[in-house]
Amino acid sequence: MSKPASELSTIFGPTGALAKRIEGFRHRASQIEMAEKIEAAIDRAGVLIAEAGTGTGKTFAYLVPALRSGGKVIISTGTKTLQDQLFHRDIPTVIAALGIPVSTALLKGRANYVCLHHLEEAVADGRFMNREDVKHIATIRRFAERSLSGGGTGDKAELPDVPERSNAWNAAVSTRENCLGSQCERYADCFVMKARKAAMEAEVVVVNHHLFFADLVLKDDGAQDLLPACNTVVFDEAHQLPDTATMFFGEAVSTSQMIELARDARLAGVAHAGDFKDLQESAMALDLATRDLRLTVTEDFGRMPGASVAEREGFAEAYTKAQEQMGELREMLESQSARAPEIANCLERADELSQKLAQWQGAGEEGGIEGVIRWAEAYSQSLAFHLTPLSVANIFREQVFGKKRAWIFTSATLAVKGEFGHYQTEMGLMNAGAKVDDDDAFNERVNEGKVETASWASPFDYPNQALLYLPKGLPAPNTPEHTEAIVRAALPLIEAAAGRAFLLFTSLKAMDRAHGLLKDLFEQRDLTFPLMVQGEGTRTELLERFRKLGNAVLVASHSFWEGVDVKGDALSVVVIDKLPFAAPDDPVLAARIDAINQSGGNAFMHYQVPHAAIKLKQGAGRLIRDEHDRGVLMIGDNRLVDKPYGKRIWQSLPPMRRTRIEAEAVAFFAEATVDDTQEQTAGLLAVGVKAG
Ligand code: SF4
Repeated sequence: MSKPASELSTIFGPTGALAKRIEGFRHRASQIEMAEKIEAAIDRAGVLIAEAGTGTGKTFAYLVPALRSGGKVIISTGTKTLQDQLFHRDIPTVIAALGIPVSTALLKGRANYVCLHHLEEAVADGRFMNREDVKHIATIRRFAERSLSGGGTGDKAELPDVPERSNAWNAAVSTRENCLGSQCERYADCFVMKARKAAMEAEVVVVNHHLFFADLVLKDDGAQDLLPACNTVVFDEAHQLPDTATMFFGEAVSTSQMIELARDARLAGVAHAGDFKDLQESAMALDLATRDLRLTVTEDFGRMPGASVAEREGFAEAYTKAQEQMGELREMLESQSARAPEIANCLERADELSQKLAQWQGAGEEGGIEGVIRWAEAYSQSLAFHLTPLSVANIFREQVFGKKRAWIFTSATLAVKGEFGHYQTEMGLMNAGAKVDDDDAFNERVNEGKVETASWASPFDYPNQALLYLPKGLPAPNTPEHTEAIVRAALPLIEAAAGRAFLLFTSLKAMDRAHGLLKDLFEQRDLTFPLMVQGEGTRTELLERFRKLGNAVLVASHSFWEGVDVKGDALSVVVIDKLPFAAPDDPVLAARIDAINQSGGNAFMHYQVPHAAIKLKQGAGRLIRDEHDRGVLMIGDNRLVDKPYGKRIWQSLPPMRRTRIEAEAVAFFAEATVDDTQEQTAGLLAVGVKAG
């Protein structure tokens, strides 16, 4: 694949290849500039961190240079939805517009593909709880057969008839632990293996951040084979990377993994070593010991420091007992491992889990592992033990500068007031002009690969399209009366806008309370706007309903802060209850704050405030999605004006008009009736409010 001669400015121009192909394509100077920067970074195998405000057209701005580059490219997205959209819609559009032959592949984590081996085992076991699961597993089986004979991918996204949350999927996919790999009798037909092979052969591969990091760390899903051959990596939604990297650059072991091992070892024992009862008994003993261990922590949910968990009554004994049972099972498995690949697979898992249990315990002992946070997380059925690096910077920097390759990081929200310092520090992407490591070759590579940053503001007319409203007289955000005050302050906006609102809360508790209050207030005032709440359907279902209804009010929490795109009139009010500071008692955050402060830094200003600003930008970004959108963003947190850091936060938002006066915020919707949206708004008002 060689780079076509036409210049980027022509391709993106008013009569260029994209304009000819894409209906409604807008020529934007910022998009051309961004594409040029990305092309230059790809050519010099450099690092570019690029923020592009909503509407810049960043997807095409990276796709065009990436597809023209002539090398192997990995594009990683934040979500599987975006991954599908890129692969099925955007990339084919750009390829057709440019008229260049580029081979492409979509690669997801293994849990997205039907596993023929485990599907058949599940059917044979008949281990399903209810009729619905049985029906779903039969549907999955027919889908797998169709995919096999028709050359399909076995990707569960192609089977919407079985909901993603169905139990049947758990039995019909593989995990890194239970996959039999080349020992599997279905290896030749295996969808996971086929998807990896296609990814190896393609020039452009679309993955997601979870897969990318899982593979860097776990060497499982195929990217470890892809990365060495790759010339360019593009991360879209790159603001998510610090969290994703944190999740994967660590170790974790959970009681559910131990219980699954006990179950699989028992089943493998029954099937392949029925004459050796000790194996089954030892698996049952591990199951029991693990369940006892879970019971020593009484919380149903929550993240807690390792030290506080270790102090719980009976915990130390239960942990040791579980380790001993794991060791015993390991011995039994070892003695029978030659009898079947299923038993050998369980042996490998027992080894890995034993090692992780020992590591977690060791990290808590005096002189434990430096630079690592030891913590635990409780779920209703499970307890997970984590070791997380204090910082992912060094680990990630080694990846980025380890080999000559271009890295592009892009998102609508990376900078705080135009600065990228916090992101660069967190991800190890400092522009090193000096020695950063003892390894000279590495230093050279860092300096050669010079990190560039760039940002482009949204092309939308924010001062006219949007109003930032901070109500006067609100109680402090940590007081019990705050949520009610937010709901009461938001109500006039909801009425003026005739519904069409998102109310985003920083906690589920506040979300539930606000939902209850709004329900009552709607009843009292005879307001008939459909009221929806996060959790009463999947995110996709809720969004579809919201868009269709056109006058709905959605009360939500974190699930709707990002990746939600409601263009047009259906959404005209976004209410955010508080500045979204992460809970400081979270064990990972608390340890990081401590480490920054102890090294003489100011964790609040350099870590917590930038994180809150980025998150706020994400939430606020739901409001204006195209150049015809208009709306009010209400933020119910006085700290925006009362605290010195507040200014830094609101100045990170797009340049909306600002007000503290309710009448002005309400009048914003009347302004809309002056222009050509008059009829529409009046119509919606008539629909939303009962007569009388
Ligand atoms: S190789 Fe692994 S994923 Fe593929 S069918 Fe066999 S067990 Fe399933």
